[in-house]
Amino acid sequence: MVTMSSSSDSTFQSVLCCCCCCSVQKRQVRTQKSLSKNEELSEKYSQHQRPWFSRLMNKDQSNRSRVQPSKRKPLPPLPVSELAEEKIQVKALYDFLPLEPCNLALKRAEEYIILERCDPHWWKARDHLGNEGLIPSNYVTENRLTNLEIYEWYHKNITRNQAERLLRQEAKEGAFIVRDSRHLGSYTISVFTRAGRPTQSSIKHYHIKRNDAGQWYVTERRLFPSVPELIQYHQYNAAGLMTRLRYPVGLLGSCLPATAGFSYEKWEIEPSELAFVKEIGSGQFGVVHLGQWRAHIKVAIKAINEGSMSEEDFMEEAKVMMKLSHSRLVQLYGVCIRQKPIYIVTEFMENGCLLNYLRERKGKLQKVLLLSVCQDICEGMAYLERNCYIHRDLAARNCLVSSACVVKISDFGMTRYVLDDDYISSSGAKFPVKWSPPEVFLFHKYSSKSDVWSFGVLMWEVFTEGKMPFENKSNLQVVEAISKGFRLYRPYLAPMSIYRVMYSCWHENPKSRPTFAELLHVLTETAETW
Ligand code: ADP
Repeated sequence: MVTMSSSSDSTFQSVLCCCCCCSVQKRQVRTQKSLSKNEELSEKYSQHQRPWFSRLMNKDQSNRSRVQPSKRKPLPPLPVSELAEEKIQVKALYDFLPLEPCNLALKRAEEYIILERCDPHWWKARDHLGNEGLIPSNYVTENRLTNLEIYEWYHKNITRNQAERLLRQEAKEGAFIVRDSRHLGSYTISVFTRAGRPTQSSIKHYHIKRNDAGQWYVTERRLFPSVPELIQYHQYNAAGLMTRLRYPVGLLGSCLPATAGFSYEKWEIEPSELAFVKEIGSGQFGVVHLGQWRAHIKVAIKAINEGSMSEEDFMEEAKVMMKLSHSRLVQLYGVCIRQKPIYIVTEFMENGCLLNYLRERKGKLQKVLLLSVCQDICEGMAYLERNCYIHRDLAARNCLVSSACVVKISDFGMTRYVLDDDYISSSGAKFPVKWSPPEVFLFHKYSSKSDVWSFGVLMWEVFTEGKMPFENKSNLQVVEAISKGFRLYRPYLAPMSIYRVMYSCWHENPKSRPTFAELLHVLTETAETW
C-alpha cells in the first residue's frame, strides 16, 4: 500500500513479536494442496548461519510452545452421514453479481450455507430463499461471533502504515480498526485521536493481549472472554485508551477483491465478451490494453505477439496460475486462445507499474510507505513460496500498483514461456542479471531462494525510489563483481535495519538466505517500531 500522507506522531503501546506470515487465510493453505506443480521446493533454512533471524524465530517458538498441541490420541473420523450434515454458515463480506448462470448472487452482510467446496476458490452455496449456486470463497467468511472477519472494524491483511493511512483519511476522533498483531494470534487496535492536542492528530496502537486463562485485555484491570466483547466495551468506555473507540472504519464492500477466474474451472474467455478501451503499455510479449469484460469488469488484456511465446506450454500452465489467488498477486482471469493473437486477461491495476510509480513520485515518498511496498510484495511472495511456485523474474518492473495503492506481483513464472534468446540466455542483453543470484546466472538454478535474492534487489529499487541497480556496470561486470563478493550499496533512504534485511537476501549460498516467511516476519516487526 502506498500513501503520501504527512507524518504525525504514532506510538505503539506494547511491542513484542508477531508472525504476520500467519495471517494467511485458510483458503490459501487449501490452494497449496490443490496445486500439483513439479516446481522445486524452497530449500530449508539453516538457522545457525543467520543468527539475527534465528533469534526472532526462537522467540516465536518459545511463545508458541506455551500452547502445546494435545498429546491425546486423535478422535476417530466422523461417520459420513454426520459430515454431510455439517453445513457451514457464512456471511458475505462483499456483494457479488453472478458472472455465469451457475453462480449465486451475494449480498453483503447476508447469510448463506455452504453446500460443497468445489475447489479452494469456488464454493457451492444456498441463500435464505433456497437459491443455490457457485460463489467465490474469498467473498464470504464463516459466520461465528468469534470470527473477527464478520466485524466491520477488523482488517486482517493490513500493515501499520496502511492502517494509519486509512484512519487519516477518516480523520475522526475515535476512528479505529483492529488488525493482526505481530504476535501469532493476537491483535492491535489502531485509533485516531486529537486528545490533548486539538491541532495535531496522532494514531495510537494498542496491543490486545491474552492471559494464560485465555482472557483478552488491553489493560490488565479489564479482562474479556473474546475480542469482540473487549471492543464493544471500549466503544463505550475509554478506560485507559486515549479515546473511546467511536467509529469503526471498514473496507467491507468498498473494494471488491479479484476472483480466481470468472467462474469455477472457467479459464477460457470468449473474445466477444471483451471490449478494448485503450492501450496502456507494451512489454516482452506485446501490447497491453485496458479493457472490460462483459462491459462491467475492468481487465488488462495482453495481446501476445506471434512467435514471442511458447503458447501451448503456457496454456497448460494458465490453468495452474488461475488457481493462484492472493490479494498481493495480480489475478489471472483467463485466456482467449481460439484466435490469433491470443489474449491473456488479468486484473487491471490503475496505477501501473511499480517502477514508474516510484520514479514519478521521487522525493515525495515516506520511508514507512516504502517499507509498506516491500511488505506487500513479501506477502505475495510468501504465498508463492508456500505453494512452491517460483517467480523467476521478480523486479519492480514486474509489480503493479492498484487504485487503492496496494502493490501486487505480476508475471510470475512467465519467463519460462518467452521465446527470445536475448532474454533466455544469461549472456543475452535482456537477461535480468542484475536481479539474479550466482546460481542462476551461472547454472540457471531457480528456487524460492533465487526469488529471495531478487527480492533483496527489489527492496533496493524501492528504497532508491526506482534507480537502476549497478547503474554504471554492464551485465558482465555485474557477474564479475557479484562473484567476487561485491554487493549493492545501502540506499540513502534505507536505515541500517532495512539494509541488513536486503543484504541477507544476497548470501552467496541459497540455503543461508532467509525464506519469504522469515522476511515478512522481520519487515512487519520493523514496521511496528518505526
Ligand atoms: P513485460 O511482459 O515486459 O513485463 P507487460 O506486458 O507485463 O510487460 O506490461 C507492459 C506494461 O503494461 C506495464 O509496464 C504496465 O505499464 C502495463 N500493464 C501490464 N499489465 C497491466 C495490468 N494488469 N494493469 C495495468 N497495467 C498493466
